[in-house]
Parts: sequence; C-alpha cells; structure tokens
Amino acid sequence: MSSTEQRVAIVTGAARGIGAATARRLAAEGHAVAVLDLDEAACAPTVERITVDGGKALAVGCDVSDSAQVEAAVARVAAELGAPVVLVNNAGVLRDNLLFKMSDDDWDTVMNVHLRGAFLMSRACQKYMVDAGFGRIVNLSSSSALGNRGQVNYSAAKAGMQGFTKTLAKELGKFGVTANAVAPGFIATDMTAATAQRVGMGFEDFKAAAATQIPVQRVGEPEDIANAVAFFADEKAGFVSGQVLYVAGGPLD
Ligand code: NAP
Repeated sequence: MSSTEQRVAIVTGAARGIGAATARRLAAEGHAVAVLDLDEAACAPTVERITVDGGKALAVGCDVSDSAQVEAAVARVAAELGAPVVLVNNAGVLRDNLLFKMSDDDWDTVMNVHLRGAFLMSRACQKYMVDAGFGRIVNLSSSSALGNRGQVNYSAAKAGMQGFTKTLAKELGKFGVTANAVAPGFIATDMTAATAQRVGMGFEDFKAAAATQIPVQRVGEPEDIANAVAFFADEKAGFVSGQVLYVAGGPLD
C-alpha cells in the first residue's frame, strides 16, 4: 500500500459510545471509516460528524452475530470504501443477572454479540488484511474479564475476547496483521447509564461513586478508550501484538 492511499477501518457498534469516539478518532488519523451498527440510520450522526470534520465515513447496518449479514457488510465496505485493513470489534450488549436468575437467552445473546460477532467480523476481514500484507485487529475486552458479580455471561465473553485476541496474533502475525485487546474499566456511555438505571441510581451519583474507587478519581470517557485503540491501530505499533491493555484509571486487583 502506498503512503498516500487511505486505509479503511471498520468499527462495530459505532453508532454511539466508545465505538463512535473510536470511529471519529480513526477518521481524524486519516482512515476512511465504516461506521457499523445494528441500525444503519443510527450511524448517521457519527458519519455526519466525521464528514463535517473533513473525514470519510460510510454507515453500514449489520448484526455482527449474523454470518450472512457480516459477509455482506464487509463485502459492501470493500466495494464502497476499499479493502478493510483495520477492524475494531467493539459492538456489545449487557444482559446482567446473578447466575441463578440468568436465562439461556441472556447467556446466548452476550456470547453471540461479543464472541461470535468478533469471530465473524475477523474472519470476514482477515482475507483483505492478508492480501494487503497489513492489518490491525483491536478487540474490546473489559475489566469484567477478571470476574464481576452479576456478569457471569459478560465476564466469560470478555475473558474469551482475550484468548481470541492472542490466537489471532499467533495465526496472523506472519501476514503483517497484529491483534490486541483494550480492556476498559468504567466508561461513561449509554451502557453504564443503563446499569445505573438498573440498580436504581441517578447516573451522576453512580459515576461519582465509581470515581471514588478509581485511582485517578474520575470515570473514563469514550475518548480515553479511542486513544488506546488508535495506538494499536497505528502502523507504528507493528511489533505490539497479542496484548491486553487495561484502560481503567489505575491498576486492577
Ligand atoms: P454502548 O454505548 O451500549 O454501545 C454499543 C453499541 O453496540 C450500540 O450502538 C449497539 O447498538 C451496538 N450493538 C449491540 N449489538 C450489536 C450487534 N449485534 N451488531 C452490531 N452492533 C451492535 O456501549 P459502550 O459502553 O460504548 O461499549 C462498547 C464496547 O466496550 C462494548 O464491547 C463493551 O462491552 C465494552 N466496554 C464498555 C465499558 C463501559 O464502561 N462502557 C467497559 C468495558 C468494556 P444498539 O444501540 O442498537 O443496541
């Protein structure tokens, strides 16, 4: 690839939250970005912000847990933007409950979006990366991978993302493709706002309480995670692969 050619990135779950911030950040660094989410119309604000800032973006509707939709979406990105060589597997959902109350559906939904979604997207994109002799895959794990009450499904999926990442790194390294994971702590997004609501707290009080437990004494913002993803996605990070970076305002126990 010549240095003047614009690299194409796909960010899943990019209609809002961490995905939207990451899409904007990768666009600001010169990537053409496919803003992929369940609902194509919901991607419009992210695409518009990128475009207003002078970047290039495409809204793509796709359920990452559906194999046929993933194949079609990645083929569409390749046709309309160019071969995707950066992939950020960010799409995610929560279905929290204690083990004894967790339904089969709560378990399957979380596994399907996080793990099956990352698998399907990575498999669909890797051929473009291998052909280009260059690729960057960044997977969103979580501090919950270390275990978190009420999240037996989510913690298992996010720990699984770490094993998945290390195996991608081992399989794809010889093709110039790196794979790394970013594991956020508490980040202020709709996801954590929904958790506040579920436990019956106002979001501001919930964030303030969380901040007291974080060494830097604040909760994270989506841009804090976008910064870490951008590091792994950078061409200069080519010797960094199979790593998990906790971005949580301090070390985790
Ligand atoms: P968010 O605000 O809830 O955004 C997640 C996005 O993913 C939504 O736009 C959602 O679409 C989309 N999505 C859900 N299922 C999908 C599917 N099957 N196919 C395509 N898109 C789908 O979440 P966030 O807080 O930004 O989190 C982003 C990632 O970081 C997730 O993987 C999450 O687990 C991880 N993370 C977050 C935190 C945190 O504190 N926020 C901490 C650790 C890790 P809809 O709106 O249509 O559902």
